[in-house]
Amino acid sequence: MGYKFLNLASSLRVGGFRIATRQYATAHDADIVVIGSGPGGYVAAIKAAQLGMKVVSVEKEPSLGGTCLNVGCIPSKALLHNSHLYHQAKHDFKNRGINISDISFDFKKMMDYKANAVKGLTGGIAMLFQKNKVQLVRGVGTIVAPNKVEVKGENGVETVNTKNILIATGSEVTPFPGVTFDEKQIITSTGALALTEVPKKMLVIGAGVIGLELGSVYQRLGADVTAIEFLNSIGGVGIDGEVGKTLQKVLSKQGMNFKLGTKVLGVRKEGSIVKVDVEAAKGGNKETLECDVVLISIGRRPYTKDLGLDKVGIALDDRGRVPVNDKFQTTVPGIYAIGDVIHGPMLAHKAEDEGIVCVEGIKGLPVHFNYDAIPSVIYTSPEVGWVGKSEEDLKKEGKAYKVGKFPFLANSRAKTNGETDGFVKVLSDKATDVILGTHIIGPGAGELVNEAVLAQEYGAAAEDVARVCHAHPLPIRLPSMVTTGRTPPRGG
Ligand code: FAD
Ligand code: NAD
Repeated sequence: MGYKFLNLASSLRVGGFRIATRQYATAHDADIVVIGSGPGGYVAAIKAAQLGMKVVSVEKEPSLGGTCLNVGCIPSKALLHNSHLYHQAKHDFKNRGINISDISFDFKKMMDYKANAVKGLTGGIAMLFQKNKVQLVRGVGTIVAPNKVEVKGENGVETVNTKNILIATGSEVTPFPGVTFDEKQIITSTGALALTEVPKKMLVIGAGVIGLELGSVYQRLGADVTAIEFLNSIGGVGIDGEVGKTLQKVLSKQGMNFKLGTKVLGVRKEGSIVKVDVEAAKGGNKETLECDVVLISIGRRPYTKDLGLDKVGIALDDRGRVPVNDKFQTTVPGIYAIGDVIHGPMLAHKAEDEGIVCVEGIKGLPVHFNYDAIPSVIYTSPEVGWVGKSEEDLKKEGKAYKVGKFPFLANSRAKTNGETDGFVKVLSDKATDVILGTHIIGPGAGELVNEAVLAQEYGAAAEDVARVCHAHPLPIRLPSMVTTGRTPPRGG
């Protein structure tokens, strides 16, 4: 997997490059047509080309890179980073002996900065396509036969005959029944990444990853933010319960409000105000909340519109996903699928890695993908990072496990930096000490979790990692907190 990064990294910084749109007059032949140029599709297309295949990439949007680069990971992380810097300068610098007067922010400039990050990276993909001889066909791709894709573009319909087809069409926002998004006051994450001013009062429906990340952005910039969540916990799918509770406590301390165990009955606009009717999830206690802007972030669903799956006999599963086997093959030979449109977490790195493994499989190379070792990160402050099973998962499975927990409050680097909220928790098999899950809330969790991923991918025991020499003072020494009886717990 390493070479993916080697090949992409140097070029991703090159911005502003535009690839010429080719208009086809005739049918084309390819070894593989990749439909969708998100992180799954574009990485798969480049890898396939590097493996010697003749590749056509089909994309319906003017900008390459899919959800992740255009309206997902990249723009949200730009806003998270810069709003964090502002918040720190405003509320924390003076505690550290740094005096700056008149701290303010220029929201338009912050948005322009985000737009430039997106432009640079999406332009980088166009350049990588050209460098790797991936042919780009712009338009909506429809599978009309197992070996034929039609692309409806601005200048008519093009046909590509191909040996293989890879579906990488991603996902879209799950709509809220009865609600129409105007993307100004009733918004999805896409609208939240394009507001022209910071709302005074913002409601967020769904305290999952998007709600917490984008809610944090606007809360740091001065909005009064309340997250309404159906469940009694925050953080979305897979988060460890104890981590979720700690995150809620820390974000509440920062000023974010939460209404948990709350059902949203409806959302309506009255003049310039948005009203949200809610009641306790268990029933009773109805109330109406008011805001300038409501962000609805209750999940995403696979996107298969216009793909023509029915024409080739591919039936979706009960959650609208394209079913695939462990080689990413659909029920139709020669048609594959990866990324958000199939099973598993909707994450960019998962889509990318599936793309590489899938095309390697098509070339006859071994196919291996470990769904137990996919990291999740919530880019709040502090960050949350985890991999593997949560305590709730292990209890459900009836698995005997050990818990090793270490607070950042007792970690030298965290104390020195004044970033002491959070902890690291390692769960390992009671009998064998093999790591089953690692859960981190605290400074640098998004980076630190990758050490746990590596350990888990290689089937390490907690003691294996504890015996590795780590730099001092370090964020935290990962599984040394799991007391095996042989290794004393250390905090760095
Ligand atoms: P997508 O990125 O959705 O790309 C699919 C592409 O296919 C699109 O470009 C679409 O236009 C195209 N397409 C669809 N149908 C057709 C068709 N018929 N013809 C031609 N083209 C078509 N994940 C992370 O790992 N880290 C994060 O920090 C993160 N942050 C996120 C923040 C937000 C606000 C959102 C919304 C998502 C975030 N995600 C994050 C999730 C991540 O964006 C997705 O998991 C990832 O983009 C999925 O990649 P994909 O290639 O499967 O699909
Ligand atoms: P999510 O699944 O993370 O969270 C949705 C939340 O909404 C859940 O907590 C759910 O209980 C709640 N909910 C559902 N229906 C509700 C209702 N009617 N009323 C109140 N609450 C309700 O989904 P998301 O935050 O929309 O994010 C979508 C996807 O995008 C996620 O699967 C995630 O993988 C991906 N994403 C990842 C990152 C990251 O990796 N940092 C960032 C953003 C998005």
